[in-house]
Amino acid sequence: MPEKVQKTDAEWRATLSPDEYHILREAGTERPWSGEYVETKTVGVYRCRACGAELFRSDTKFDSHCGWPSFWSPLAEDRVRLLEDRSLGTTRVEVRCAACDSHLGHVFEGEGYGTPTDLRYCINSISLTLEPDEAQPGR
Ligand SMILES: [Zn+2]
Repeated sequence: MPEKVQKTDAEWRATLSPDEYHILREAGTERPWSGEYVETKTVGVYRCRACGAELFRSDTKFDSHCGWPSFWSPLAEDRVRLLEDRSLGTTRVEVRCAACDSHLGHVFEGEGYGTPTDLRYCINSISLTLEPDEAQPGR
């Protein structure tokens, strides 16, 4: 399991931008097509913007045409925590960072994208930081 990261609300506010705080700590959603990683193909690892935990790899990212970065699997199952979300009058499954419990997005199932898992982890760009592989010599 990734090491747990715990901070107070004031500490999160001090380390995150207002937009990051709203999405990550208040479970906000960025506008579709507004995020910086929607169509990114760069090879690398996506880390949690809040705590730096490695969450997704670029090789599970796919074109969902939904306006948010979409992955068919997390880097490892223990990297994310799934919670039932009954807001907006529907039942969805919220995806949070397992290390710091920040909001990442939602996961949807059985949409027919033809990916190996038939899952779509629909993640806010602002919840992620892409670390391109070139930046890690020796890996
Ligand atoms: Zn995190």
